[in-house]
Amino acid sequence: MDQHPRHQPRQAHRFERRGAAVPALLCAAALAGLLVAAPVSGAPATPLAAGMQRIVEAALGDTYAYERLGELCDVVGPRLAGSPAMARAVAWAAATMERDGFDAVWTEPVALSCWMRGEERAEVTGPAAWSLPLIGLGNSVSTPPEGLEAEVLAVRDWDELEARGDEAAGRIVLFDPPWEGYGKTVQYRTRGASAAAGHGAVACLIRSVTDYSLGTLHTGMMSYDDSLPRIPAAAITVEDAGRLHRLCQRGLTPRVHLVMREHRQDDVTSHNVIGEIRGRENPDEIVLLGGHLDSWDVGTGAHDDGAGCIITMAAAQLLAHLDLRPRRTLRVVLYESEEFGGFGGRAYAEAHAGELVRHVAALESDSGAFPPNGFSVRADSLVTAYLRELAAPLAEIGAGEVESGWAGVDIGPSVEQGVPGLGLRTRNDGYFHYHHSPADTFDKIDPEALARDVAAVAALIWAVAEDPVSLRDRAPVHP
Ligand SMILES: [Zn+2]
Repeated sequence: MDQHPRHQPRQAHRFERRGAAVPALLCAAALAGLLVAAPVSGAPATPLAAGMQRIVEAALGDTYAYERLGELCDVVGPRLAGSPAMARAVAWAAATMERDGFDAVWTEPVALSCWMRGEERAEVTGPAAWSLPLIGLGNSVSTPPEGLEAEVLAVRDWDELEARGDEAAGRIVLFDPPWEGYGKTVQYRTRGASAAAGHGAVACLIRSVTDYSLGTLHTGMMSYDDSLPRIPAAAITVEDAGRLHRLCQRGLTPRVHLVMREHRQDDVTSHNVIGEIRGRENPDEIVLLGGHLDSWDVGTGAHDDGAGCIITMAAAQLLAHLDLRPRRTLRVVLYESEEFGGFGGRAYAEAHAGELVRHVAALESDSGAFPPNGFSVRADSLVTAYLRELAAPLAEIGAGEVESGWAGVDIGPSVEQGVPGLGLRTRNDGYFHYHHSPADTFDKIDPEALARDVAAVAALIWAVAEDPVSLRDRAPVHP
């Protein structure tokens, strides 16, 4: 792929923006209100306001992020935590940041165990017979080598399983819950197998956790209750879950044969990838930003979370490119193994425990490359209020909302140590169409939305890193 040396004009990129009129630029007046002393009408903007405006304009007219995300998705491909594919992604990310103008790039070890799927196949053997596409859930055990065959008990939810628990022994329990939002529905994926095993089931199938399906399979992490037998767990399509469920409701007893082979390797050392733009005046004060580099092994992790990695890389890279090196250091961290439980985020917080007190803020982008609507903040209410003020002018590109709430899995361990946390929020109504499925690919990325994400992150993170007063000094110090 083409290179992007830091002093090269950015128009040299292969992906031209197609008629990308900069949609809604920050108006200088809104920006001028940012840092206290708003100039009188007609006066020049403050340096901070001018900087933010420049950043947004440059980001909206730039194709760097789109180009790099395409490279990550199409050339590097999927990158399951701890796998050889992830090692290739780590090497790509480090080489890319070095090439693209970061001042320092390095990797840090993350210890984890690696789970990988092998052969997976299933069929319905009666009363009607059809081939049953399925996808093993992350961490699932294998079936016996010859597979297993059993009758299906389809239930809608936990209550129905409890009510009909005595029918589950020796059967495959199928959970076919309606979509009630990710947070609620995903519980059948994470805990369904052990709930079924508690009633003697031999395997667990779930309806793919999605709000929309054209026959797509959605995987994701599951975990076992140590006190119960470990049974194989897989997702099937919404369509097949519905058909099996309806057969059961007709009083028929469908049978399923499934074969699942999974491989596990403990004591794997993988890596977080870190790149810095050193601060101009206070290089020891750090503004952290990043996403998770690992993805599921199906699709190419375009929205989840290739986008978050590239949005934050592009934001920092843009500031270096524009010669807007802020007062404090920008540190981009691409985390390993978010999908299997946040190993990279914990490794970072442990390795940097001594300097977390000098981390001024930590931002995570893990909501896909949909149009931004603002930031979710986990911090003292005074910090949140200040960030709301700081981000308000980003309303011009639809990204001005700041709410108190969840900031991110990877930055979680650092945020727990008192670092103010920010999560990029997006208008991601379509996210779960693609999430953890073979459909999470680069063709689903809207370059305009991606450019807005970069604009929002770059402008806000720059303001935080440039602000003469540290964000952490805007709230009382907590012990
Ligand atoms: Zn993610």
